[in-house]
Amino acid sequence: MDHLIPDVEAVDRNPELLAIRKNLIGMTRADMAEALQENGLDAKAAKMRARQLFHWLYYRGTSDFADMTSISKEMRSELPDHFTVARPEITSLQQSTDGTRKWLVKFPDGQEVESVHIPEEDRGALCVSSQVGCTLTCSFCHTGTMKLVRNLTAGEIIAQMLVARDTIGEWPSPKGERMISNIVMMGMGEPLLNYDNVAKALKIIMDGEGISLSKRRITLSTSGVVPKIHQCGEELGVNLAISLHAVSNDVRDVLVPINKRYPIKELLQACKDYPSSNNARRITFEYVMLDGVNDSPAEARELVRLLKDIPAKVNLIPFNPWPGSQYKCSSNNAIHRFAKIVNDAGYSSPVRVPRGRDIMAACGQLKSESTKIRASERKAAAAAS
Ligand code: SAH
Ligand code: SF4
Repeated sequence: MDHLIPDVEAVDRNPELLAIRKNLIGMTRADMAEALQENGLDAKAAKMRARQLFHWLYYRGTSDFADMTSISKEMRSELPDHFTVARPEITSLQQSTDGTRKWLVKFPDGQEVESVHIPEEDRGALCVSSQVGCTLTCSFCHTGTMKLVRNLTAGEIIAQMLVARDTIGEWPSPKGERMISNIVMMGMGEPLLNYDNVAKALKIIMDGEGISLSKRRITLSTSGVVPKIHQCGEELGVNLAISLHAVSNDVRDVLVPINKRYPIKELLQACKDYPSSNNARRITFEYVMLDGVNDSPAEARELVRLLKDIPAKVNLIPFNPWPGSQYKCSSNNAIHRFAKIVNDAGYSSPVRVPRGRDIMAACGQLKSESTKIRASERKAAAAAS
């Protein structure tokens, strides 16, 4: 059967249905086939339609059923009664003087997250969020100060990529060069504390019939959720980045408090065991440079000692300040002295050039106004009643 069961309370007659229609964005082909079967298609038709929908959504970037011309006219008109392919709303889109773009996207429940595109000459990385806020409270990170936290769904994670590709005009999925050539899971949130949704989103993004981004072009950054690191390597095989930031547990406990649960030794053991790492695909160790806190030559030497036996590279990140932050960025001298020690020991140790600082889009500066908007909305509602 190649018809969806007619919905007697179709959306145009009952607008409340809008809220409960399932969004196809975030579904794998198998999920879509299952949903179509639940709505009356037989297995064979469901499988074929799912394949077409997947192609339109993730390869072509279509955001309206009406444009899906390989699907019969009848089916195209039936689909919106049951499903939606709506994107989240873009509440703001800012562009830095250096070309970096920052999107603030809003989901139907009013929660917002930020995504950032960092362009290079003929390529670029999209920095994607995994949570609204973050439950962890790293003392140097703006996102960690957000009170409101929830996991993003797989669809909400992928939607950030779709929205960015809409803006940049990168549909259908290009075979050659792309301006969104890489994804870094380095936006708001701790991706390994929302593993299932992140994994599903990344699998869809890697699928060759859709966006088709190679696992080698995806990097997941974690503050060190040790029990999930192995699974991430095994199931996704993406590049791993570790927010190390300190070489002693005393200092790391303060900077990255999850260290109290999973201290440095356990974290480094998980890195040694990471399934996808080898000399060609090294693990990146991120190290934020904080004046007088973690930037001494002795700490650089200790870092080299700790990384022994791990295929590693080090990324030194000048601290990006935010309103109310308690740290100062290390001096250029201190950063270069540190970099030289690590580099002389045979590890690549580039200093990350801050991008998009003028629009608060640099590492660790992301924080949506979700809580404030909600508070003001509550006030307005209270005043009106
Ligand atoms: N939660 C994950 C990914 C998001 S943070 C993680 O912590 O790894 C992405 C990177 O930015 C992390 O290395 C984080 O430690 C770093 N970062 C956070 N705040 C920063 C700041 N103010 N300046 C520079 N880097 C920062
Ligand atoms: Fe969360 Fe990462 Fe920020 Fe720490 S650095 S608070 S883990 S987003």
